[in-house]
Amino acid sequence: MFQLKFYALVLWRTRGVVPRVLRLLYLKDAEVLDYSPDAGELERFERTLIALSNAVERAKRDQDFRPKPSRLCGWCNHQALCPEFGGTPPPFPTAPAAGTPTDSEPDRLATPVRDDVVA
Ligand code: SF4
Repeated sequence: MFQLKFYALVLWRTRGVVPRVLRLLYLKDAEVLDYSPDAGELERFERTLIALSNAVERAKRDQDFRPKPSRLCGWCNHQALCPEFGGTPPPFPTAPAAGTPTDSEPDRLATPVRDDVVA
């Protein structure tokens, strides 16, 4: 549901209209998940995203990214670098490499909204 809420919020903020319904199709088993958002719910979700973004910025500032073990660890390709599995993380990067987009260039990272994706 996080994914659909995110798409709904992006559509609302880029087009000014709360989408009536979003549909996620699971092709493997033909399952359909519909989501009909309302503005209040999307406002709360937006506050959650802002809080997450602030937490990421704090972690970047403090260079504090702790492992968060979960059942997903079994599929993780980074166990060799993860303290939770006895690994050592690489040094924290000090500056972006030349030519790397930065936070001050958000428009370069934005994916254009396609008109044909959601009716
Ligand atoms: S193994 Fe991967 S998913 Fe698990 S805590 Fe470490 S980095 Fe996170």
